[in-house]
Amino acid sequence: MSLPGTPDRPLCIAIIGAGPSGFYAAEALLKAPGLAVRVDLYDRLPTPFGLVRGGVAPDHQKIKSVVMVYEKVAMDPRVRFFGQVRLGRELTIEDLRARYDQIVFAVGCESDRRMAIPGEELAGSHSATEFVGWYNGHPDHRHRSFDLSCESVAVVGIGNVAMDVTRLLACDPERLAQTDIADYALEALRRSRVKTVWLLGRRGPAEAAYSPVEIEEFGKLAGCDLVIKPEEAVVGAVSRLERAEANDKKKVAYVQEHAALGEGSQVRKIRLRFCVSPVEILGEGGRVKSVRLEKNKLVDDGKGGARCVGIGEFETIPAGMILRSVGYRGVPIPGVAFDEKSGHIPHEAGRVVAGDAAVPGEYVVGWAKRGPSGLIGTNRADSVLTVQSMLEDLKAGRLPARPVDASAEAAPKLLEARGAKPVSYAQWKKLDALERSRGAERGKIREKFTQIEDMLAALSVGP
Ligand code: NAP
Repeated sequence: MSLPGTPDRPLCIAIIGAGPSGFYAAEALLKAPGLAVRVDLYDRLPTPFGLVRGGVAPDHQKIKSVVMVYEKVAMDPRVRFFGQVRLGRELTIEDLRARYDQIVFAVGCESDRRMAIPGEELAGSHSATEFVGWYNGHPDHRHRSFDLSCESVAVVGIGNVAMDVTRLLACDPERLAQTDIADYALEALRRSRVKTVWLLGRRGPAEAAYSPVEIEEFGKLAGCDLVIKPEEAVVGAVSRLERAEANDKKKVAYVQEHAALGEGSQVRKIRLRFCVSPVEILGEGGRVKSVRLEKNKLVDDGKGGARCVGIGEFETIPAGMILRSVGYRGVPIPGVAFDEKSGHIPHEAGRVVAGDAAVPGEYVVGWAKRGPSGLIGTNRADSVLTVQSMLEDLKAGRLPARPVDASAEAAPKLLEARGAKPVSYAQWKKLDALERSRGAERGKIREKFTQIEDMLAALSVGP
């Protein structure tokens, strides 16, 4: 019998999750010299591209052009896309183990971290993940509603997600009108009465998680001032700016320049605060009304960095809505190892680890592997590393010791038997064309389908 990876018996790979890390893993496998391979890319949604479609802000269209790379991968005859197939629903991990030599989990981080403070359950307290999914027309979040009738909103965390949601809340909605923002979100933003967005960082400007371009974009927003307290724009002794990267120095310089500009004259304000932590969300009639903050100081964390501790000084800021943007978190997959503490799949060099041992034939890439960090491009190098481990295992004969039905029909047959109606890449291209033409009618780049039923109806596929 031929060995897996040869023309008579291609190596059969299932990639679970058709977001950036999944596509980059597929790309690295296709590029492996001399490897005969078949890659099946599964996604729980009928649409591919994960966070590029459902996470990247609508006013950051340039970032989305990365899908051209994914498109090339998807069009390769060795690759098949099975949209609308969920592991744990139409397929089990055992089904995959019986049909693939190697399985790659590229499932990202579907949930979010909590702040664990009183009042987090009040109406008007949401995760940024929900807000992002809502304005991007993600089927999981399109039904949510956000009360934008208040004048003041608080965003907790100062990573790039916090920057995205703050910008979307503070900008003139007309600058989004031609993008692929969901139509209902554009209408809601047009009706918004929000004038102040408090952006709350628990550490100082030298520790801020946002990228320089993101903070610089605030300074360019029409009709909006970026307001920073000069006394908070300082770099403390434990911040060790002298050892910081050029990017961090650039961010600090920008913040200090802006702090010197004062209040400005625009109606809308982004009030960027440093060294403050929400300690309680206060409500009235069950709804968020204000946020109590404690001031922090920075102390040496013993690892070359700075951590914050409260100093017992408090203030309360008005906010009719609060969005926590304190990081994403993975969701466990039944039958696959998961580290509850870190919120992702434990691994060694991309090999899934259960207990102390690597699980033969199972791998992980992207946020599911390393947690929610890095830009989209970071996932390419990360997926390449996991694929190196996969190829090393293949070469060393470390494939799982179990029979695999490697025929091309094995997976489609099973899906059919289970009553699944997978969406192919050709069908996605049809949806893509429909979205673009719906968008063109309204002067937008695209008008997304935001409900799975509508996508399937447009493809004449039953649910
Ligand atoms: P992130 O970069 O890890 O930022 C999380 C923020 O939450 C940090 O400011 C963190 O502060 C803060 N935080 C955590 N726990 C907190 C708590 N209990 N109370 C108050 N603040 C808390 O995460 P993210 O913004 O979700 O972004 C995830 C990844 O996607 C990042 O790598 C990001 O660069 C990327 N991304 C990129 C773009 C873009 O390129 N335009 C857009 C969106 C996302 P500490 O630093 O003190 O921990």
